[in-house]
Amino acid sequence: MHHKTIAELSQDLHAKKISSVELTQHFLERIKRFDEKLNSFITITEDAALQAAKAADQKLAQGQGGPLAGIPIAHKDIFCTDGIKTTCGSRMLDNFIAPYDATVVTAMKKAGTVMVGKTNMDEFAMGSSNETSYYGTVKNPWNVDYVPGGSSGGSAAAVAAALVPGATGTDTGGSIRQPAGLCNISGLKPTYGRVSRYGMIAFASSLDQGGPLAKTAEDVAMLLNAMAGFDPKDSTSVDQPVPDYTATLNDSIKGIRIGLPKEYFSEGLNNDVAKVIETAVKEYEKLGAVIQEISLPNTALSVPVYYVIAPAECSSNLARYDGVRYGYRCKDPVDLEDLYKRSRSEGFGSEVKRRIMIGTYVLSAGYYDAYYLKAQKVRRLIRDDFTEAFKKVDVILSPTTPTPAFKIGEKTSDPISMYLSDLYTIAAPLAGLPGISIPAGFVNKLPVGMQLIGNLFGEAKLLNIAHRYQTVTDWHKHMPEAF
Ligand code: GLN
Repeated sequence: MHHKTIAELSQDLHAKKISSVELTQHFLERIKRFDEKLNSFITITEDAALQAAKAADQKLAQGQGGPLAGIPIAHKDIFCTDGIKTTCGSRMLDNFIAPYDATVVTAMKKAGTVMVGKTNMDEFAMGSSNETSYYGTVKNPWNVDYVPGGSSGGSAAAVAAALVPGATGTDTGGSIRQPAGLCNISGLKPTYGRVSRYGMIAFASSLDQGGPLAKTAEDVAMLLNAMAGFDPKDSTSVDQPVPDYTATLNDSIKGIRIGLPKEYFSEGLNNDVAKVIETAVKEYEKLGAVIQEISLPNTALSVPVYYVIAPAECSSNLARYDGVRYGYRCKDPVDLEDLYKRSRSEGFGSEVKRRIMIGTYVLSAGYYDAYYLKAQKVRRLIRDDFTEAFKKVDVILSPTTPTPAFKIGEKTSDPISMYLSDLYTIAAPLAGLPGISIPAGFVNKLPVGMQLIGNLFGEAKLLNIAHRYQTVTDWHKHMPEAF
């Protein structure tokens, strides 16, 4: 039952082949049985889940409830959940019970989904491997010695191991697409402004965007239908109608122009990953797509630019954690300065501190123009590269990451090499663009993700192109044996 997609489970629920309570119990049991090995959950909300499942069953019994009614899901622990611990993977928020629901959480409730728990994540979503969480490293279900990717690694690992059929995540520089790629599932980062950020704990506000992770593009479309939409509580939310993302999944992609950025297929790309992607490109040719090489000339600048802008915004956003209003407070402070200093040094982990230091530095008088302002200007050039590219092609295709998953501990002492694993995912959020990662094959029994980047609000097209690939391949059907 757990190998079924959300689309299939939805049919079973509506056909009364199974109840939501049964389904929810099944997934809760799997979490209890397997999560010790993966550490993908921080909180399990068993009682609330069973209650929500009962309510969904009542609706379904009356012939009501939409496509997601009764479907168990998990939320990344970055989304505030009313009355439930919301940690953001940090000791700083270990004791934080959110007093309200994030808009995404409200929307998913309205759609009738059943939250079974909150997933583990890199601390404050800073990381590419899920090794920075206060709650410990998340393991990759394909090989527990390897990282699942980050920062939505808990969500990705939980979906890949079929502990839950779908989950939410957030992506600032790749945190939905990268773990989806490394865990063999599908994950979409929407256009900036498409999904509300209200109640989603801020890391880098001009980049953060919530989105869905699930086994297939079709499931991702179903989840996005519920998540997307205008929210007056988020000043960067865009007031544009939400299409039915499932309606166009089967459209023909004959004649669609797919661009391969030469900078994403050059130095740094693992040869075996390159081969997997080349094979996927051939599938697209068979489906009638027209493949074309393109150039995104400022690609090499995207990692350095991101690692100025994201830390700058994080240093500002994380200033609110001062031990006074909420969150961790040190023991017996002697005065106010001691309270600030010790609460922050004890409450934050080392990666978060590194980012706060970098961010404070690049924003300080004397360095602002040289680093922050310069980075903003280069960000525009990166955006312009995409604007030019989308004059020639409809979507851009690349590997999601330069290599398959790496070993736990392999990059923890080398932040630069860790940051470089975001090479192909970082530019899209800098330009506000949507991107999806879908399973494309394996190298040494580890999954390889393929990324498709679309133009602004091009989610429906991305999902269509991803879904068509999944109708002629079965990579997304491969499940890790140990689970
Ligand atoms: N790996 C990137 C970082 O560490 C991206 C994280 C994210 O998208 N939240 O910042």
